[in-house]
Amino acid sequence: MTLKNRSKCSARFGFRTQLKATPSTCALCSRGCNVHVETFRGSIKRVRPRFHEKVNQYWMCDVGRFGFDDANERDGRLSVPLVRRGDGFVETTYEAGLADAAKTVKSAAAQLLALASPFLTNEEGKAFLDLCKTVGAAARFVAPATAGPDELLHTGDPCPNRRGLSELGLAPTSPAEAAALAADAKGVLLAGALAIDALETAALENGPSGSALLDDAKRPAVVFERRLVERPSVAVCIPALNEFEKAGTFTNVDGLVQAIRPSLAPPPGALSDREALERLRETIYGQAHAPAKGAH
Ligand code: SF4
Repeated sequence: MTLKNRSKCSARFGFRTQLKATPSTCALCSRGCNVHVETFRGSIKRVRPRFHEKVNQYWMCDVGRFGFDDANERDGRLSVPLVRRGDGFVETTYEAGLADAAKTVKSAAAQLLALASPFLTNEEGKAFLDLCKTVGAAARFVAPATAGPDELLHTGDPCPNRRGLSELGLAPTSPAEAAALAADAKGVLLAGALAIDALETAALENGPSGSALLDDAKRPAVVFERRLVERPSVAVCIPALNEFEKAGTFTNVDGLVQAIRPSLAPPPGALSDREALERLRETIYGQAHAPAKGAH
């Protein structure tokens, strides 16, 4: 080995020793492989399999191993809510943004089309369910079609928590069903990162895009997403976290409840999806029980 190569080798080894490993669960299919997420200076550098006798033993697939680039992308990430003002959006505080969101959700009430992302944890799913119960709306999650499994690990189901959300009582809803339900809805709540991507999966198979339900300005929408969603109906956009920023649990395809742990810091100031959903429910409850103006 040349001296130049030795120094490269030593630099690479030094770099590896500085990686911080977080034990977690892969969120890119419903298998829930156990993994170590390794970060350096706030960015994911690699994901390695972590032994679990019943789930993945020593293995993981390339989808999980290399599917983290988007999670490192910070551009355009929301850290505070945005509310529509005329043709544009302005930043606001959580208190003001959730107050606007509460009015939209409450005025649609039972005719709210409430759709969770299939990437919500069990704990976030419970907060979403409680919120839906508060306004009397049916709780659903976007459930894209599954592909066939590979021969080893990948289940072909892109929803990491389909089983957990179903067991909580959220109704799995295909993008086409969501688009049809929108016709009778007076408002939309879309909760969690990648819910819109999940709605658009039908378009990949030449079906109608479920995300068209965000195109009718007469049906206002509250959307939790990582970045601003500039669609005609969006009235409030609330920051959402990606799967590497969350703490909670997923229930895998075999019913095993497994922890996901944060390996990346969320945008400064952004609440977790669970906390934002709980605060939205409290705001709705508070508005419903506020004393009437002039009452003593
Ligand atoms: S099989 Fe699924 S859970 Fe396992 S690494 Fe691949 S995408 Fe992730």
